[in-house]
Amino acid sequence: MKLAGTRILVTGGGSGIGRHLVERLLAEGAEPGVFEIDAARCAELAAATGGRVRTWPCDVSDAAAVDAAVAAMLGDGFEPDVLVNNAGVIHSEPLVNLLSRGERAHSRESWRRVLGADLDSVFFVTSRVVDHMLARRRKGVVVSISSISAAGNPGQSAYAAAKAGVNALTRTWAAELGAMGLRFVAVAPGFIDTPSTRAALSEASLTRLQQQIPLRRLGDVEAVYLAVRHAIENDYLTGTVLEVDGGLVF
Ligand code: NAD
Repeated sequence: MKLAGTRILVTGGGSGIGRHLVERLLAEGAEPGVFEIDAARCAELAAATGGRVRTWPCDVSDAAAVDAAVAAMLGDGFEPDVLVNNAGVIHSEPLVNLLSRGERAHSRESWRRVLGADLDSVFFVTSRVVDHMLARRRKGVVVSISSISAAGNPGQSAYAAAKAGVNALTRTWAAELGAMGLRFVAVAPGFIDTPSTRAALSEASLTRLQQQIPLRRLGDVEAVYLAVRHAIENDYLTGTVLEVDGGLVF
């Protein structure tokens, strides 16, 4: 599918990877729209792009909020041919914290929150958007931002499980809906240089980490954009996970 003139809904487009995707897609002539939980980021994005990016504030982990945002988006005449499921939270917590003086077991609240933001969100938004794509009888592409943690990463039970779920949904939907002209691709970044990555890691662990990455550096957001663009443009790509990780494997 060509980018120029294509309506592309990006979730979590207000910062980090999502924000870069929106800016680059806009520069390539696509028409991005954004679902984003942070209303201030929505307003800033719309203003910074002179109103060329339409935004609908929405918590994509909340099914009712997704239904309302999809209805508002369609009501505004924005019918996406491409969906990029990017919204998510990165979370690290061991299954049992042996150093804790209080509750040692993984919090159930954080498990639920991470599964909600990183996996429920993909299911809620994709099911509604794909339903509309099928009704329009047009080709469509769904790109979901996963993570190399899906392979299993110590200290990230909830995050790894959620992203493994995203990969499984990608393969499932590719098989289920390929005959209807819909493609599903996951893009799995390794460590990307975003404010959220820098907030999550100390300088010492960043230095250690870079020594483990074969390319010896964090990835930049542009590397993720190039994979997303490939997923949209290459019409024979579906049911696969594109890893963008500088060679780092868990
Ligand atoms: P980020 O925190 O910079 O940006 C995430 C954006 O999503 C924010 O604007 C946030 O407000 C929004 N968001 C979060 N929860 C939401 C919700 N429930 N509803 C709507 N919007 C919501 O994060 P990032 O580093 O840009 O990560 C983006 C995606 O890339 C995530 O899915 C993350 O798991 C994935 N990823 C990131 C890295 C990395 O190194 N940064 C690596 C692998 C995968």
